[in-house]
Amino acid sequence: MPHRIFLLVVVFLANIVSHADADNFKLHATGETQWYRGNMHTHSLWSDGDDYPEMIAVWYKEQGYSFNVFTDHNVLLRGERWIDVEKNKGGKIAFDKLAAKFDSQWVQTRTEDGRLQVRLKNFDQIFDRLAVPQKFLLIQGEEITDGYRNMPVHMCVTNTTELLPPLHGKSIVEVMQQNINAAISRRERTGEKSLVHLNHPNFHYAITAEQLMQVIGENFFEVYNGHPTVNDSGDNTHPSTSRMWDIINTWRLAKLDLPLMYGLATDDGHAYHRTKPGDGAQPGRGWVMVLAKTLTPDALVSALEAGQFYSSSGVTLNSISVTNRSITLAVATEAETTHRIDFIGTRKGFDDTTSPATEDPQKSKRITLQYSDDVGVVLQSTTGGSAVYQFTGDELYVRAVVTSSRLHPNPSEPGDFQQAWIQPVVPNSP
Ligand SMILES: [Zn+2]
Ligand SMILES: [Zn+2]
Repeated sequence: MPHRIFLLVVVFLANIVSHADADNFKLHATGETQWYRGNMHTHSLWSDGDDYPEMIAVWYKEQGYSFNVFTDHNVLLRGERWIDVEKNKGGKIAFDKLAAKFDSQWVQTRTEDGRLQVRLKNFDQIFDRLAVPQKFLLIQGEEITDGYRNMPVHMCVTNTTELLPPLHGKSIVEVMQQNINAAISRRERTGEKSLVHLNHPNFHYAITAEQLMQVIGENFFEVYNGHPTVNDSGDNTHPSTSRMWDIINTWRLAKLDLPLMYGLATDDGHAYHRTKPGDGAQPGRGWVMVLAKTLTPDALVSALEAGQFYSSSGVTLNSISVTNRSITLAVATEAETTHRIDFIGTRKGFDDTTSPATEDPQKSKRITLQYSDDVGVVLQSTTGGSAVYQFTGDELYVRAVVTSSRLHPNPSEPGDFQQAWIQPVVPNSP
């Protein structure tokens, strides 16, 4: 895209998120607004998931979700696609379940070269059959599946009717930026409100905090991804995604003059037939709770961009209230469960020294630097069903995380507790 148009797009995008350091807000269902629970990262037999998309939609619907976004790898759910009934990721098990749930008119089969094939349903067919106005919404998305050398660079687009092919680039940052620019310019051209988010930065430890922090026009990433191989909690040399989140926001606000980045929780579901907790990329592990007036893709994307949501792997909140002076959280408490509420942020004047994570200069470029403990410090920690954090005026931003005393019933990493991630806010100047 020509440089000038790109700049215009950047200014436009920066405006979308500039609310974050402005208004007071209270997130709670009023009747006019309500919480919508949704998953923004889903794979089906259209790419490498092991179930039929309509079965996946039924699963989310029956679990009480309000919306689900189909994000297969570099493909939209449309056009004519036939697959062998047995030779696919779901095999006979998936087909038998499909045939039991849907009538024979819905399940289209044919025999080719002596083998039974089934036709994959299109997004519009599934939507017509299963979506319920204001109750359950399906959204067409895509996981733009790109990479740099052997490093995966994946970005989910929520709400697109056009396929966005991976555009590649000469560095990790360029790969991210090229694909984001294309998604933004498509949104500008079509007026279709789509949202791009960066997936699982620690998958293959492909993306460092320094790379992600500098991307322009991309203000969302997965702080929690339910796939068991994406290393959300990092390792001895690589920081967790939540540590990366603090590094990214500290540098974006203090050094790069870029807007806050928000953190999503998603399933990245691929495995729909497992029964053992923790086994494979099962659905139902991480989701967003979006406060919106109506259940449409436009309203959901607008609410997400306005920070009117939180992410969860099991903890539910009743309200989040932000004023000039404080953040107040109220958790939906459960019997025999306690909640720890941590407010986390970075203060102005923080120690900004960094050092390489390893002494090997080649390797260290591919690992997030080490930052001082001033970055993403726990500002306040309490136990209970609610908490108030009073701004002192010296915070760059403040976010909160609520951790339940209950273990995740089906964790992506053993020992995970149920959590909720409240989005960062920039306190108003006093
Ligand atoms: Zn991915
Ligand atoms: Zn994925």
